[in-house]
Amino acid sequence: MKTRLLKSEEIKEAGRILRNGGLVGIPTETVYGLAANALSSEAVLKIFEAKGRPDDNPLIVHIANLDEIDDLVAYVPPVVYDLAKAFWPGPLTIVLEKSDIIPNEVTAGLDTVAIRMPNHKVAQEIIREAGVPLAAPSANTSGRPSPTTAQHVMEDMDGRIDAVIDGGPCSVGVESTVITLCTRKPKLLRPGKITPEEISKVLGTEIEIDDAVFGEILDGEIPTSPGMKYKHYSPKANVIIVDADSDDFRNYVNLKAEKGKVAAIVFDEESKGFNCDILFFGKEEDDLAHANTLFSNLRKCDELGVDTVFVHCPSAEGIGFAVINRLLRAADFEILSLGGDEL
Ligand code: AMP
Ligand code: MG
Repeated sequence: MKTRLLKSEEIKEAGRILRNGGLVGIPTETVYGLAANALSSEAVLKIFEAKGRPDDNPLIVHIANLDEIDDLVAYVPPVVYDLAKAFWPGPLTIVLEKSDIIPNEVTAGLDTVAIRMPNHKVAQEIIREAGVPLAAPSANTSGRPSPTTAQHVMEDMDGRIDAVIDGGPCSVGVESTVITLCTRKPKLLRPGKITPEEISKVLGTEIEIDDAVFGEILDGEIPTSPGMKYKHYSPKANVIIVDADSDDFRNYVNLKAEKGKVAAIVFDEESKGFNCDILFFGKEEDDLAHANTLFSNLRKCDELGVDTVFVHCPSAEGIGFAVINRLLRAADFEILSLGGDEL
């Protein structure tokens, strides 16, 4: 299959492909999505095939207008309207009890469905033009860093999907916050730009944080958020998160650079004095910049062909919680803390 790179104006063509059961890579504010008609089992199965995605990992359904939700879920709890007013369109995904029109392939057999209204003009226009809700996971090969440009989508999906629409780089850079309203108390399943504190404020109650957000899910445990159990977001290089001050971080990386092909992801203000390839994370205080650069930096490690990448651990404030959550999965849940003794 030849994959066409479409311009952001070519909405009609994207809509036509989607209505005919095809796959289109689409820009959203979080990351690029790999979209198909969410109401067609056949179309949705193609997503799993193109990505090599495990079939127990459910997809998010994207809508462009709030009233589309009525047909997709069994019941709309009133708080959904409060959340929608505060955060939609935007990077919040809400898990609700599904209706019968959602195929089991979308939800990986669960009786719940994840729904989001993206805040990206091109994504909204494509959903409207397609005339159906769109199931869309991130448009990367499963396990690889998520795509934040159309070129990233092409790297992974060229020859596997019908088209990619180029809408420029994504403004957020990490996937949406996911919460479920199907547990006794609202629960955060995946951190993103919208923080648990912001959601709690709107709901007027504390929200729980699922165990999977922090840690590895052990074999045999049943995760609430199936996607969180996989090693994820990884370049070919080994990712090591280093928690240290700038001097210790630099000294440690330079020591390792003597023995192997390494790179470092560093804050802009500490970039001098490294004896290896460096990639810029943004300023230390700029959590949005860390989110913006994370996945493209991890992809660049593959272009550099390094064996190991050392990532200077960012703060967990704001969207930093989501950045660390993704980094932990890329690094197989290990953080190296340097207090000086290790050097
Ligand atoms: P992705 O589309 O690759 O960003 O992944 C979407 C993630 O949303 C999945 O990996 C799940 O963790 C989560 N998700 C989607 N649908 C559900 C659901 N019905 N229940 C719980 N989590 C879900
Ligand atoms: Mg994904």
